[in-house]
Amino acid sequence: MTMELKIFNTLDRKKIDFVPIDKNNIRVYACGPTVYDYAHVGNARMSIVCDLLIKVLRLIYDNVTYTSNITDIDDKIILAAKTQNVPIEKITNKFLKIYNQDMHSLGINKPDIQPRATEYIEEMIILVEKLIKNKNAYLSNNHVLFHVPSFSSYGCLSKRSKEEQISGSRVEVAPYKKYAGDFVLWKPSKQNEPGWNSPWGYGRPGWHLECSAMSESCLGLPFDIHAGGIDLTFPHHENEIAQSCSLNNEKDPKLFARYWFHNGFVLFNGEKMSKSLGNIQLVNELLKKYPSETIRLSLISSHYRQPLNWNKNLLQQSQATLNRFYRIFLNDENFDEYKYDIKDISDDIIESLLDDLNTPKALAVLNKLINDLSSKSNIKSKNLKKTIYSSSVFLGILKKNPSEWLGIGNKNSKNLNNIEELIEKRNNARINKNFALADDIRSKLNKMGIEIEDQNDRTIWRKIEKDNK
Ligand SMILES: [Zn+2]
Repeated sequence: MTMELKIFNTLDRKKIDFVPIDKNNIRVYACGPTVYDYAHVGNARMSIVCDLLIKVLRLIYDNVTYTSNITDIDDKIILAAKTQNVPIEKITNKFLKIYNQDMHSLGINKPDIQPRATEYIEEMIILVEKLIKNKNAYLSNNHVLFHVPSFSSYGCLSKRSKEEQISGSRVEVAPYKKYAGDFVLWKPSKQNEPGWNSPWGYGRPGWHLECSAMSESCLGLPFDIHAGGIDLTFPHHENEIAQSCSLNNEKDPKLFARYWFHNGFVLFNGEKMSKSLGNIQLVNELLKKYPSETIRLSLISSHYRQPLNWNKNLLQQSQATLNRFYRIFLNDENFDEYKYDIKDISDDIIESLLDDLNTPKALAVLNKLINDLSSKSNIKSKNLKKTIYSSSVFLGILKKNPSEWLGIGNKNSKNLNNIEELIEKRNNARINKNFALADDIRSKLNKMGIEIEDQNDRTIWRKIEKDNK
């Protein structure tokens, strides 16, 4: 099998072969969270998609460096600190820790480098000085602004026209701007606000600047892949390109990052998640209600570029799918012998992932392998199970003990036999049109904490979720 990755490059607007700058040193940067609140499903989607991309890159290349930053200085953080009357570090340290814990719970590896914006202020000041010197930036009313018309490739990533760029900023144009689309590189801080001394007075960096500083410091330019949520394409990523290219008087955006990898929105019941609608789904809350693998499977169930419609149904479906996957390993005396081995991962699954990280296709292959199990002899099925096991673990699922997952203690297989027996009895009752008995058995199972669902040719069962919110 040829191990070649294809990815959709937002810059080219198409899926293309991934050709590394240096195959012995693959470098990826992703815009990480602003740490002033709990991480939501949107943060988790970015994180999980990038983590999977890194895992796939590591199947091909030996040396992959993944940097994802932490925004720990920002107006929203300052506001939260003011409201709670605490220093900003109190907020950022707390939520960075929670973010990392929550992502860890979802089976996401920590980035190799996780730089914090406040640790790169010096680098940012140097960049601003350089941009002023290159005549790409100017000082006005104690602000340093990037002058957008000075960078002729502006709009290359988002493909927005000049008019759209300005209307996209959606804020009243500050009178000190030369051009409506100009953006802040440095702004003044009040004495009671966090800030740093700079050649332009006490102040703090604009948000876009940090990623230009940290990506260059941590990875060097150009690097291979710049990732982030699709909502960051404009203006954030467009501004990063303008800054980083202008620093070296370059116009070609590929001299900053070669590939732009963007994941789609997460919707909640078809609506955008927002604080004002009160429908933000926090990872921390979800982890109290659902097993982490259920959340993980839900997050990778859609193709990363498509919008992901988050709702209770999706979680229940993922739960049912996982129950089915786990059930094939239940009471399998060989279970403890299954070890995760890259060599055992199904070629078809790897192929799906190499094709622009097609997780729905990979999951369909996994599903098919599980269906195939029923038609194999035992000896063959052991090999097939090995494939299913390693493929699942690569995707971050089936890492738990099957009997624990299904809520059945190892020594409690009597309970399991009982369930299977009752289901069989009920199915016979239904065949004999004895629906009263069938209903009785169903309510008996419910009392045992088991819910059942009749599908075309079989009945599946699962533990009733205690918290059904
Ligand atoms: Zn960024």
